[in-house]
Amino acid sequence: MTSIKLEYPQDPYGLILERLTSIVEDELSNTDPVSITTMCEFCLRPGEVFDNDGVIWVDSYKYSNHICKTCNLFSEQLPNALGNERGSIGYKLSSFKSGFLALPMDNAMPVELWLGGKYLDRINLKGGFKIIDRSGNQAKYDLCERIGEYSVITEISLRREMFLRHIRLSDSNNTYLSTETGSIRLNKAEFQALKNAFISEDFTNKELLDAVTTINAYKTGSIGSLHARTQELFGRLSQETRLALGNITDPASLMFMLAGLKAGLLKEEVK
Ligand SMILES: [Zn+2]
Repeated sequence: MTSIKLEYPQDPYGLILERLTSIVEDELSNTDPVSITTMCEFCLRPGEVFDNDGVIWVDSYKYSNHICKTCNLFSEQLPNALGNERGSIGYKLSSFKSGFLALPMDNAMPVELWLGGKYLDRINLKGGFKIIDRSGNQAKYDLCERIGEYSVITEISLRREMFLRHIRLSDSNNTYLSTETGSIRLNKAEFQALKNAFISEDFTNKELLDAVTTINAYKTGSIGSLHARTQELFGRLSQETRLALGNITDPASLMFMLAGLKAGLLKEEVK
């Protein structure tokens, strides 16, 4: 029988396990092993792809979750690596309302945690993760600018059992970003073409924001091609921009890039 197990470093879950365990090993408390013969209850991977090697994690409802060791890393409190959320309660990798965990292609570089400003007062900046002060659309822009630099990127949110289902390995041309609803493919050439086209348009800030709103509405089907706003916008966009937009066929990918460009291409207002 052929094994369906992926070998390191082709297995993104194995990569996360290896890179993060070296940071947080001392504070892992769920060390009672359990053989998982069906599937991990969080990432839903079948046990045979991780050698059936799991742990039991008891949640606040006293329910015993059978999970793989990669998912366990997102369930444990990590007061040393991440600091305390309140009192003596340590942050988990799923304590943050939004953020990204990013593993550089170069395994000698530190694992990055991208978080918004409100967490930066309490998070441990010297706990082994490289904390990047980025969130929202600016983070999206910077992630698009760094396509090719990371092997694994996942959104981190309170719903670990969702974002842990969609983890994929990225390559030098594409970032596969795991989110709660799926994996978004961000292609380097597509993003750069769209960015350069937008720069050539020389939008004012208001025009930029209006254009993104209209494109979003059109691409998600809330306004049609004959709507006045669609007609007006596509009538004024250059062919370069229309081509760049048309080349990005995945709506989730386009929405992500446009959100990033809203932050990345804002001009300093002349007062
Ligand atoms: Zn799992």
